Amino acid sequence: MNSIFGYTLKELEDILVSNGFKKFNATQVFEGIYKRKVNSFDEISNISKELKSFLNSNYILKSLKVLEVLRSDDTDKFLLEVDGGAIECVLMRHDYATSLCISTQIGCNMSCAFCESGRLKKIRNLSTSEIILQVFTIEKLENIRIQNVVIMGIGEPFDNYDNLINALSILTCPKGIDLGSRKITVSTCGLVLKIKEFADLEGQVNLAISLHAPNDELRNKIMPINKAYNIKELLGAIDYYIEKTNRRVTMEYILLDGINDSEECARELATLLKGKLAYVNLIPYNSTSHTEFRRASKNRQDKFYDILYNAGIQVGIRHEMGKNIKGACGQLRASYLEKN
Ligand code: SAH
Repeated sequence: MNSIFGYTLKELEDILVSNGFKKFNATQVFEGIYKRKVNSFDEISNISKELKSFLNSNYILKSLKVLEVLRSDDTDKFLLEVDGGAIECVLMRHDYATSLCISTQIGCNMSCAFCESGRLKKIRNLSTSEIILQVFTIEKLENIRIQNVVIMGIGEPFDNYDNLINALSILTCPKGIDLGSRKITVSTCGLVLKIKEFADLEGQVNLAISLHAPNDELRNKIMPINKAYNIKELLGAIDYYIEKTNRRVTMEYILLDGINDSEECARELATLLKGKLAYVNLIPYNSTSHTEFRRASKNRQDKFYDILYNAGIQVGIRHEMGKNIKGACGQLRASYLEKN
């Protein structure tokens, strides 16, 4: 049986209609499961016995099992069970909103040198329902309404494109989770063809690019994807996205001590991004025991920031959360796998 959380409203309408039910029944089911968060189809009071029985015999309505929770002041990290593995998501309680960072794959094939997720190869893509169920499970568990979703957990979202796009449709559906598109951010290491496809949707979902280096020589060393799509091609796709959507793109740049944090790198980055509708998010690196990389000092971070700022680039340093609870991509899953 399939999870009911894997269907867009349109898909559910088609299924119900082809089984002799009415199109509006799909809206009733969506509102029951997403808005009232019923525990069983029988609890959806405004649908017929026949429809309840159809749903009961064809679909599963179940949250994901929580394997582990790590809590700190402003950040909680959850390890959730899926078939064949575990995935993590991180809840950040900002003053202004709650954000949930979710995963799209079990493991990742992009092999970025500094990243814990890439060290553990991809086992499989997450299904649409498993992507949705991260948001659903945490909302229900914590009895909260999540206001922002960042798709920056384990995996490369654009390497699981179709399931991602369906999940975005469910997340933003007014009859379902009803999150504003502008409250969602997808982060990619730079799959150029998918960035263009995403641009063609002309949606309002925010795009973030893991850039992390200002030239090909350096980017090739730390991000193998750059050998498939170099910086010029990547920036071309970003220009295309901006042209299509008129939306600002976030450029993520982890500052790695002695690798990409020099003043020269900052100047190169400024030249690269000059005049683009882009915002640079400088990220303090979360060191992991499995890599040699270390975080750039506060002094170097500030210097890097100043160079970009003075060159007229929009820039910020990411406020750090969850450092003491294995907050960085893939760290909780990796430590769980080591223990078990
Ligand atoms: N594959 C996607 C999304 C997942 S990674 C992508 O590459 O964008 C989300 C972000 O976390 C990326 O910018 C990634 O480079 C960064 N990241 C990975 N490991 C990190 C670490 N140890 N410390 C800080 N950021 C890290």
